[in-house]
Amino acid sequence: MAIQLPNPIDAPRVNGHAKSRPGVAELDPSRLNVTVTQSPKSIPPVETLKFGQTMTDHMLIASYDPEHGWSDPEIKPYGPICLDPASSCFQYSTNVFEGMKAYVGPDGEVRLFRPDLNMARMRRSAGRVALPPFDTDALLTLIQRLVQLESRWIPNIQGYSLYLRPTIIGTRPNLGVTASDHALLYVICSPAGPYFGAGSARQISLLANVDVVRSWPGGTGGYKLALNYAPTLKPQQSAELQGYNQVLWLLDGKVTEAGAMNFFAVVKQDENNWDVITPPLDGTILPGVTRDSCIALSAAHPSRTTLPHLPETLHLHAHERTLTMSDLKQWHAEGRLLEAFTVGTAVVVTGVGRIGYDRTDIVLPEHACGRGPVARALYERIVEIQEGKFEWEGWSVVCKTANA
Ligand SMILES: *Cc1c(COP(=O)(O)O)cnc(C)c1O
Repeated sequence: MAIQLPNPIDAPRVNGHAKSRPGVAELDPSRLNVTVTQSPKSIPPVETLKFGQTMTDHMLIASYDPEHGWSDPEIKPYGPICLDPASSCFQYSTNVFEGMKAYVGPDGEVRLFRPDLNMARMRRSAGRVALPPFDTDALLTLIQRLVQLESRWIPNIQGYSLYLRPTIIGTRPNLGVTASDHALLYVICSPAGPYFGAGSARQISLLANVDVVRSWPGGTGGYKLALNYAPTLKPQQSAELQGYNQVLWLLDGKVTEAGAMNFFAVVKQDENNWDVITPPLDGTILPGVTRDSCIALSAAHPSRTTLPHLPETLHLHAHERTLTMSDLKQWHAEGRLLEAFTVGTAVVVTGVGRIGYDRTDIVLPEHACGRGPVARALYERIVEIQEGKFEWEGWSVVCKTANA
């Protein structure tokens, strides 16, 4: 069953972005075709969900070619795609992705968290590997349609959500190292529980890697490109063999990120003044949506809002500044390193229990709930915003229904 869903709210918008190419079609939600599956899957019990292992019934897909521009977008049953073996994505890694989530709150509404930031980042990532641009408002509207259609897959349990993986791949079907003028954009969905396992009230361990770097000045670490992740898989395996959960990535002794998450340290000035520090966006750091949210919420406590369980007498000072392993070691020795935590869409905020470096471990205070006070406050507040229980600066966006 293919149905065309015309909709006034989807009238093509000029959102201030450069057009794909003069004369070719833009990505256009008003031209969406929806084919609903005839054999809906049964939803597995939430306790059995492992990150990224279960896919929903449908996917969103659109293709780009230089002659026509973007095809009419389609939502259709989830399934394999067929590609020429010479495709640019296989040969030259012209692959871009995003990670975002849809949440259901107690009011039953489906929400996305700051999705405009994901759309803008995806457009920048695509541009970095010379893939065609797309209208970010159009893609967001299409994603909302997909999420509405898949809403039965979103577990209505705190901490559970529907993980969305928007992807663009280069499909130019010729060899030769050159920009891919053909592309395929698709979005798949996977119901997700707590990333490090249900009831993950444990702090993770990090192994600082002094031999391998994830990113470098002038490199691509600041973009969500698939090519950034393949080289991290072996060091990740090696960290696990040594008994650590994730790699702490360094560059010349400076902390950059942990695994595929941004890194924060909490350092005490005195009882009432704590610094919340994360490395600056110098091109080696992925500009995380969760990172930005943690900086903003920390900076707002207590002057503009108070975070859960933190006293109003405590002032958090958010800083984007260089953070070295020597800094961490020194603060730890002085008893001022209160917490370290890692952040990202998949994990939200996870506490760090120890950091292996130079054959010893920096051991951080243990917390029964798995997070130190700042990590816990940020985690709880962000989840409240995501589930629509706490309103903050329009971060939580209700998905428009198809007939709104
Ligand atoms: C995706 C990602 C993050 C987290 O970004 P969010 O937008 O918060 O999900 C951090 N670091 C790396 C390397 C990433 O790929």
